[in-house]
Amino acid sequence: MTAQTPRWIRNFVDGHFIDPDDGGKSFDAIDPATGLAHARVHEADAPLVDRAVTAARKALGPWSATAVRERTEVLRRAADLIEARFDEFVAAEVADTGKPVALARDLDVARAVANFRTFADIVAAAGQESFLTDLPGGRHALNYAVRKPLGVVAVIVPWNLPLLLLTWKVAPALACGNTVVVKPSEETPGTAALLAEVLAEAGLPAGAYNVVHGFGGGSAGEYVTTHPGIDGVTFTGSTATGAHVMRTVAPRVRPVSFELGGKNAALVFPDADLEETLDGLTRSVFANTGQVCLCTERVYVHRSVFADVADGLVERARSLRLGSPLDPATTTGPLISQAHRQKVRGYLDLAGELGAKVLTGGGTPALGTELDGGSWIEPTLWTGLTNADRPVREEIFGPVAALIPFDTEDEAVALANDTDYGLAASVWTRDLRRGHRVAQAMNVGMSWVNTWFLRDLRSPFGGVGLSGLGREGGASSLHFYTEPTNVCVQL
Ligand code: NAD
Repeated sequence: MTAQTPRWIRNFVDGHFIDPDDGGKSFDAIDPATGLAHARVHEADAPLVDRAVTAARKALGPWSATAVRERTEVLRRAADLIEARFDEFVAAEVADTGKPVALARDLDVARAVANFRTFADIVAAAGQESFLTDLPGGRHALNYAVRKPLGVVAVIVPWNLPLLLLTWKVAPALACGNTVVVKPSEETPGTAALLAEVLAEAGLPAGAYNVVHGFGGGSAGEYVTTHPGIDGVTFTGSTATGAHVMRTVAPRVRPVSFELGGKNAALVFPDADLEETLDGLTRSVFANTGQVCLCTERVYVHRSVFADVADGLVERARSLRLGSPLDPATTTGPLISQAHRQKVRGYLDLAGELGAKVLTGGGTPALGTELDGGSWIEPTLWTGLTNADRPVREEIFGPVAALIPFDTEDEAVALANDTDYGLAASVWTRDLRRGHRVAQAMNVGMSWVNTWFLRDLRSPFGGVGLSGLGREGGASSLHFYTEPTNVCVQL
């Protein structure tokens, strides 16, 4: 990109992309693999956010009155159009995140398509609660709940899985008849803007999907969440920001859904299939360079297999290929930004000061000139840390994990649950009873047995403790994105 010919990523309000005005603020979209700007982003100011909320309010009546069949057809067409422009979406996601092209294809963009199709199916098939109430004398009353859209929903999403998380919220929100004002992460504005084109072409009316770009406090994020015209907020991001947004929304008592941070555990029992476990752990620790809220950063391993698991995981970590995201052989991209790398490096230093043994990684790789300016970090594994240490207690959000031995199942469960977070866990064992028992004992929203990040979009997703509030997915999404009115008729 040159200074003379920037590629603009624009705000989308009331069915139109807004051309940046001369006096308006803007910022660079950085490619994390190189550190170079690849586009310029128009930052929405408070009046533009107000226009977006007003447009969403205006579109709400007509869109919510549209037949479910028509609404879900718009979603299905959106899925088809994402597929038709698949490579464009992949390119936009890779440019913003630096993630390997294979990952963007197989995970991010594929899931965006699945989100639209699945929520179209779920909403089309949804029934409603009804109860026949016994009354004296053999008479009855009929209770039924009519589900109405929540209204204008603010959708705030992070940078790690930008399109996946955006469509995870936008698809059910629109299917339920809501209109949305979307605030993508300042790090990853590209695919939200592309999605505006797709939804318009799919037949979504003007104003039903609006995108405002910018940062959090003193910028678009704050303007959206403090706007009195917002009927609910669905937020995915860090725990600290989530707590702040909750305080912001509290005076107006609006529904909120919070998918926040994690400090997820894996528990490896002596009877686990070693190869399958190592493959699973490699994914769960290092996928997306550790930047998935579900990623494992604590690996508890039975002492009898500790050395085998540690050796196998080190070997696999060393075989990961860092490099250009566009190279199909690349498995591991950079961290999202220099600021985030600074944070992760802080934990690498701290672990060293605490006496951790670095089994592999621990530093910054040298990848060659083209990628020199990128925010790269080595996949890192530690031993010698305990649950008392900050690198084992705090979410790092990088390709790092601490390996900690245990002797009994009770001890493993206690160690895994000894955390302020509660998002996900994975249990590795061939003992069926133990698998169920331990998975259920985890104080988390999602427990996996012999797998990780295997999702059925009809099942509930979310966390407890510092990991969030509420659930989305399947019926849980329908509950969040609608408000019931119960009608009681004496028969
Ligand atoms: P973040 O909290 O910094 O930002 C998330 C979003 O909130 C961004 O769009 C940001 O601009 C916006 N924001 C920041 N301050 C705001 C404010 N004052 N008002 C309104 N909006 C504001 O998070 P991040 O660094 O982008 O993402 C990483 C975090 O997200 C990690 O903690 C990760 O665990 C979490 N995450 C959770 C899930 C989940 O489903 N539980 C999924 C993915 C990521």
